Amino acid sequence: MGFDLASSIQAYLATGKVERLPNALFMDGESVAAESRQSMPTWDPGTGRIFSEFAAGQTEDVDRAVVSSQKALKGEWSRFTPSQRGKLLRNVAELIRKNSDRLSFTEALDSGKRLDEAMGDVAGAANCFDYYAGACDKYQGISIPLGPDYVAYTLNEPLGVTAHIIPWNYPLSTAARGIAPALAAGCTVVAKPAEQTPLTALMLAELCMEAGLPKGVFNVITGTGQAAGAALVKHPGIHHITFTGSVTTGIDVMREAASNITHVLLELGGKSPIVALADCDLELTADNVIAGIFENAGQICSAGSRLLVHDSIHDALIEKVLKKTKAIQLGHGLKNSGMGPVNSELQLKRVSGHVESAKSRGIEVLCGGRISNDPDTGLGWFYEPTLLDRVPLLDAAVQQEIFGPVLCIQTFADMEEAVHLANGTQFGLVAGVFTKDLSAAHRLAQQIDAGQVYVNEYFAGGIAVPFGGNKHSGFGREKGLEAVGSYCKTKSVVARI
Ligand code: ADP
Repeated sequence: MGFDLASSIQAYLATGKVERLPNALFMDGESVAAESRQSMPTWDPGTGRIFSEFAAGQTEDVDRAVVSSQKALKGEWSRFTPSQRGKLLRNVAELIRKNSDRLSFTEALDSGKRLDEAMGDVAGAANCFDYYAGACDKYQGISIPLGPDYVAYTLNEPLGVTAHIIPWNYPLSTAARGIAPALAAGCTVVAKPAEQTPLTALMLAELCMEAGLPKGVFNVITGTGQAAGAALVKHPGIHHITFTGSVTTGIDVMREAASNITHVLLELGGKSPIVALADCDLELTADNVIAGIFENAGQICSAGSRLLVHDSIHDALIEKVLKKTKAIQLGHGLKNSGMGPVNSELQLKRVSGHVESAKSRGIEVLCGGRISNDPDTGLGWFYEPTLLDRVPLLDAAVQQEIFGPVLCIQTFADMEEAVHLANGTQFGLVAGVFTKDLSAAHRLAQQIDAGQVYVNEYFAGGIAVPFGGNKHSGFGREKGLEAVGSYCKTKSVVARI
């Protein structure tokens, strides 16, 4: 409240300082210090400088948060009717909208993303709470016909205390996408935002309290993956884990969950193909390719990081994509330039390492391929938008997720080869198909092994459409009504009458 966006941006860009950011854990309805009193810094990726500090939570803080959420699960929250839960989630949506400027400013600053993208994420988070507000009293069980001597039905019971391990690329929207359906199902939540982007999850928890959520229903532990995340996923009081992040960490999380038989939903990496058939609209396809790989500087699990293009249109389509790529201006996220920085120095090194190693294997770099900075200040962790051409299927640049603004272009001669290339990595998150031939599009949609296929609009859909991966991209589905099911356990009741 009382947050003025324009003057806050101006003041920050002039001084590097921001006031009134959350810096404690959020537990039992209030901000509390970590028991160790330790804190850690958070950086502005657009300058590479520290702008705030936050609490470094550890095992003892996780224990407190889980106990608080266990208590809350059995308390007042368990007596909320589904429609009361719905009303509360709708209040949260309204409060997110009311605080959109402050949330978007903080998200852009902490993650590096462009302010208008952050505003889109905040609007999406509000829509998500609205959507699951409506779902609370509509997600229902079934009755099972067993003949005149029995009555049989199912109950959707909340899974219990749910842990949400949140990544740094979409901090608020990923938090909302897991937490809103968990609350809709009647669960309680302990969230662990990424150490690179801890702030908006804390703000969301405050807004949920303001909306009327009973204390302890939504707790937030900030801190590192090792100290706070690992302690949370191995906690025996957790009934479910929603993890969004890298495949390597996902494997660790699943292994830890196994020891307590904890339910897991894994949203991992991707190397998603955009398939451009010979008859596609070149301009439309080029625009979607650009948005698919350069939005959020390519740090999207569902980025369209591979362009599979029919031989016959390779030169014409690449000419357009190249022109649009070269026009992208780098700059600080709060200045809303064409593309912001990558999120951390570590991530910048990872991206650069992938491209340098591709160069050493003789892969052609059509443009980009270098570390850069904000042209106004010479600061920040930027990477040039990069196109790698004619990358063989088995090359590491195609097989590994780069998670940065780097597009691998591959060509195909016929549909069979397009499907072979599309399915030729360990991932299976999403895919795009661009063509005027809708039969071909739907045939490809059947044959591509992915959780979601977009036709003629990359990232089409929204909160109502189920989302999740196959193969090493993970399992379980978020978004849509299916997500409420991800936070419920079915109980079957059969009565002899
Ligand atoms: P990155 O390597 O790009 O930071 P991660 O997949 O490791 O991506 O991080 C995603 C989220 O997982 C972050 O919130 C991070 O703190 C958390 N995390 C990292 N390691 C672990 C772990 N061993 N157990 C639980 N959470 C973890």
